[in-house]
Amino acid sequence: MKYRLMDLLACPICKTFPLRLMVFEERGIKPPERVERCELYCSYHDSMVERLPHEPRCVECYGREVVNGLITCPKCGRWYPVEEEIPRMLPDELRDRERDLRFLSKWRARIPDEILRQGRPFNLSGSDQNLEKR
Ligand SMILES: [Zn+2]
Ligand SMILES: [Zn+2]
Repeated sequence: MKYRLMDLLACPICKTFPLRLMVFEERGIKPPERVERCELYCSYHDSMVERLPHEPRCVECYGREVVNGLITCPKCGRWYPVEEEIPRMLPDELRDRERDLRFLSKWRARIPDEILRQGRPFNLSGSDQNLEKR
């Protein structure tokens, strides 16, 4: 997914916008010929566009592909994985708990403690060391 997408995404549960993006791995891609600007929220600058003291450099938002990362909602505490360039923005009942816990475990060194412990709908508290053993 591109940084650019964060200008469009709201939390599927509580509708909060903007969401926060943490990037674990990214790759540069060739930006399109004509780059538009983020309209409301620019994820590359991590700022609302209106609060930027300068024009946003959105060639970065269009020219970077987030390969693995984490999207978090500051309001309801939910988190959403970005895996292999795909953001999975699913409501709780459609999420795969085992898969989500594997994701948290895999990237735990990069994920803030509060998500690891209290993130919704799933987190690693309780199942801390051994995810295979239920
Ligand atoms: Zn931007
Ligand atoms: Zn939310």
